[in-house]
Amino acid sequence: MSQDRKCDVRPEGATAPDGTTFSRRSFLQGLGIAAGVVAAGVVPAVLVASPAAAEDGTATATAGAVAPIGSQDPLAAIIAADQPLNYPGKPVYYADPAGKEKWAMVIDVKACVGCRKCVYACVEENNIGRTSGFTLIQVLEMEPGKIDLETSVLDYEEAGRPDKWYMPVQCMQCAHPPCVYGCPVQATWKEPDGIVVIDYDKCIGCRNCMITCPYGARHFNWVHPEVPKDEVNPKVPLAEKAWTPEKCTFCIQRTRNGKTTACVEACPVGARKFGDLNDPESEVSILLKTRRVWRLKEEESTEPMIWYVG
Ligand code: SF4
Ligand code: SF4
Repeated sequence: MSQDRKCDVRPEGATAPDGTTFSRRSFLQGLGIAAGVVAAGVVPAVLVASPAAAEDGTATATAGAVAPIGSQDPLAAIIAADQPLNYPGKPVYYADPAGKEKWAMVIDVKACVGCRKCVYACVEENNIGRTSGFTLIQVLEMEPGKIDLETSVLDYEEAGRPDKWYMPVQCMQCAHPPCVYGCPVQATWKEPDGIVVIDYDKCIGCRNCMITCPYGARHFNWVHPEVPKDEVNPKVPLAEKAWTPEKCTFCIQRTRNGKTTACVEACPVGARKFGDLNDPESEVSILLKTRRVWRLKEEESTEPMIWYVG
């Protein structure tokens, strides 16, 4: 979201894995530099790979194809060295898609009471660092009768207020994901079942995907994610996530093994529905056919796979 996302600000004085310490100012300066690089058209050399190829991960990630600006490209050496080590770059923990599913979610904002149980369940399921300062799902509190992301409240204290309404947001699993097109080393891609994933080993931490995502759905691990030993989910990468961005994966470790997402399971009022759009009888397919649904930022042409109803 374009509001001030406090959750992505590096904790003041926190120490990075290599021992470096940063202030909030240096973070903002860094972001400014990254934005300037994009504006100058340097990094987006990746766009020489077609969006279609980038989406399904079939684009050839050679240094020449990604960065035709030759020896002046600061990334070229890194990319060249990375290829033999990490390509094909699939996270080892993810099963292959079970069939021909096209996963989608429908969130009923009239039913949502803003309790954040989905947020907490996601943190536990996906090994989100307990001190990282961000969550993959955020629930926004809004004033009645309008959708205004700029004035929405993220850190409200009292849930279930009758004079407010609540809108959970997370990665939209876009059918046309700008984050994928923005990655200079193809460390993120869209899987055949529509889930956009990240290879944390392959990621170089440039945060270009965070800039290109119109939904603010990616969050940067400034420090090693800290998860108590007895709470670690072994099916989700943990150590690999330091100094990389992360985001919702529709709980790929669950949904490819016949389970629903942790947030759907945790929601006490059934506000979240998850399922296969290729199955005309699935709950999400029926909802899309029978209810008035809407999506965020349709004007971006990203075709989000999360619809809202209510
Ligand atoms: Fe990528 Fe952002 Fe779309 Fe998620 S919401 S797929 S991070 S562009
Ligand atoms: Fe809303 Fe359900 Fe999440 Fe609670 S758990 S905030 S009701 S979507």
